[in-house]
Amino acid sequence: MESKFTEAYPKTPDATREEECLRVSDMLDLMIDGEASTDEQQYFNKHIEECVSCFENHQKQKLLKGLVSGHLKRVIVPHSLVQSIKARIQETL
Ligand SMILES: [Zn+2]
Repeated sequence: MESKFTEAYPKTPDATREEECLRVSDMLDLMIDGEASTDEQQYFNKHIEECVSCFENHQKQKLLKGLVSGHLKRVIVPHSLVQSIKARIQETL
């Protein structure tokens, strides 16, 4: 009974996944800025398809970046506001 129960769970290579997440979070800025290479983009996109936390990080970053740059085009955002948004991004990572 017990062995059957454990067999139901696929072995997850935790260390590998953690390494991938680190790599992906390093790429996040490049991806947002559109500066990632084709290889990096492929790796990144494949990873966020399987990894919810990295996917959410990417969505959050994209959204915040869009908000900040969108505002900057129309009005001058006080520097303090940009700083507080950036600080908030850091907190959530
Ligand atoms: Zn991940």
